[in-house]
Amino acid sequence: MGREPIVPRLGRPPRVHLWHIGCQMNDADHLQLAECFAEIGFIPDVALEDADIAVLISCAVRSNAEQKVYGKFKELIPWKKARPGRAIALTGCMAVEHGSALLQRMADLDYMFDVREPEGFFARLQSLHGGDVDGPVTMPASDRLLAYVPVMGGCNEMCTYCIVPFVRGRESSRSTAEIVGDVRRLVDRGVREITLLGQNVNSYRDPQTNTGLPELLAAVDAVPGLWRLRFLTSHPRNAVPQLFEAMRDLPTVCEQLHLPVQAGDDELLRRMRRVYSVAEYREKIAVARATVPDLALTTDIIVGFSGETEAEFEGTVQLLRDVEYDVVHIQAYSVRPGTAAARRPDDVPLAEKKRRLNHLLQIQRGIAGNRNRALLDRRVEVLVEGVAVDGRAYGRTRQGKVAWLPAGSARAGEMHVGRVAAANHWQLDLDTVSSAA
Ligand code: SAH
Ligand code: SF4
Repeated sequence: MGREPIVPRLGRPPRVHLWHIGCQMNDADHLQLAECFAEIGFIPDVALEDADIAVLISCAVRSNAEQKVYGKFKELIPWKKARPGRAIALTGCMAVEHGSALLQRMADLDYMFDVREPEGFFARLQSLHGGDVDGPVTMPASDRLLAYVPVMGGCNEMCTYCIVPFVRGRESSRSTAEIVGDVRRLVDRGVREITLLGQNVNSYRDPQTNTGLPELLAAVDAVPGLWRLRFLTSHPRNAVPQLFEAMRDLPTVCEQLHLPVQAGDDELLRRMRRVYSVAEYREKIAVARATVPDLALTTDIIVGFSGETEAEFEGTVQLLRDVEYDVVHIQAYSVRPGTAAARRPDDVPLAEKKRRLNHLLQIQRGIAGNRNRALLDRRVEVLVEGVAVDGRAYGRTRQGKVAWLPAGSARAGEMHVGRVAAANHWQLDLDTVSSAA
C-alpha cells in the first residue's frame, strides 16, 4: 500500500495507462488488469499523455529488467507533475520482491500491490474515484488475434539462480472449466491463437479432476473457432511422452516446444538444481522429435553461472550444436538476492559472460539459418498478424517462425498457406500464397 494521494474530482471516468515488461505472464496480467479496470468503470489502456493513472507491471528475473523499470518510473515523474491528481502504481514481481522498500526508493510512487491479490488496490481506487465513475465500461475494441491465458501460477522448482518461486509463490492450477471459459470468451472476441501459460506449465493439475496438461490441451483444442494452441514454459522434468502425443494428435496444437535446458553440463545442472542430466534431456528431445513431425524446438540458456568453467561451457556449446534448436534465448547470469546461488560467488567476469553469450549467439545463428533453409520449397501455414508499409503481410507459421507474404496477398486475421521461397536465420519469405481458412 502506498501513501494517501490527493485526488481531485475529474468529472469523468479516470483513464489508465498500463505498461509491462518481462515474461508472457506479465502480458497476461496486463490484459487481466485492463479488464478489472473496465469492470470498476475506469478506461483502460489509453496513451500515457491521456492518462490519469500509470500502472507499471514489473519484472525481477534479472537485474537489467529491474533497471528498465526504474528507468520507466523516472520518465513518469515529469508526466505525473504535469497535472495534479495523476498517480503511479507499481505491481508485478518487483513489488513482491522489494515490498515497501520501493516506496522509500521511489518517492513519487502512489500505489503498490501484489498482482495476485489486486482487490485492495481496486477497492481503494473505487473509494477515491467513486464520484467519477458511472458503472462498468466496455473494453476498448481489440483486434488481438493472439492471447495468453494463465493456467497456473507459481513454481515449485527451486532452481538455485531463480527468483520466480519467491515472487510468484507455490504452484496453483486453475480449473479446466475456468480456463476453457476464458478461451471461449477470447475466441468470441476474435482471438485465433491462444498460448497457455505457466512457469512450469507441464506440471499443470486440474484441482478437481487431477488431470494434467495433455487433457487440458484436449479440452481447449475442442473450443470451436480456435485455430492455434501453444503452451509455455515446459520443464524437462515433466516433459512426458503423453504430452508429445497430445501435440501430435490435437489439430490446433502447434508443432513448437519450448524446453529450457539452461546448461549442457551435468555438474553445472546440479549446481543449478535442474534435476535432470544432459543425457536425460537429450533423450526427452529424441522422443519428442520422434513423436511430433516437424517439431520446432526452442530453449533458454544461462551463461556465466557461478563457477562455470571453460569445460562446462564447452558442454553447452556441444549441446547446442547437437540438438540444433530453432531458437535459443541466451542470458548472462545475474545474481538475484535471496536465491540459493546468491550465497555462491558470481565469479565469471562480465566480459567473459559476454564472450560466452556472443559465442553461443554466433553458433546459433548458423544453426537457425540451416534449420530455416531446410524449409525451402516446403508449404507452410501462416496466421497473418499485420501488413507492413510496403504492403507485405507478415505472421507466424505453426512452428512459430516469422514469415512474410507477397504484397497485396493477405490481410490481418487471415490464414494462408505459402511456399518458402527464401529463408535466413530469423525469417522466411513465401510466394504462391493461397487461403487456408
Ligand atoms: N520457468 C521457466 C522460465 C523462468 S525465467 C524455466 O524453467 O525455464 C525465464 C528464463 O530467464 C529462464 O529460463 C532463465 O534462462 C532466465 N533466468 C532466470 N533467472 C536468471 C538469472 N538469475 N540470471 C540469468 N538468467 C536467468
Ligand atoms: Fe525458475 Fe526453475 Fe521455476 Fe523456471 S523452473 S521458474 S527457472 S525455479
